[in-house]
Amino acid sequence: MATCDTCGNEYDRTFTVTKGTESGTFDSFECAIHAMAPACGHCGCRILGHGVEAGGNTYCCAHCARQSGHDGVTDRS
Ligand SMILES: [Zn+2]
Ligand SMILES: [Zn+2]
Repeated sequence: MATCDTCGNEYDRTFTVTKGTESGTFDSFECAIHAMAPACGHCGCRILGHGVEAGGNTYCCAHCARQSGHDGVTDRS
């Protein structure tokens, strides 16, 4: 049995997520996202896809990057 780092649930099928030097043990993707996913620098939503990096911040989409003053950022399509 392992314990979820986010909600404390004891569960026998937890999984570990590693991001750079951080890692955590979770019982569900929702808990992993809550703990590990970056937040958009403009609207604050959790970034679950690739996101857009501009000026050292990460945004959920090019629109948010532009709203934060990063002109010329476009979604990669
Ligand atoms: Zn959990
Ligand atoms: Zn956003």
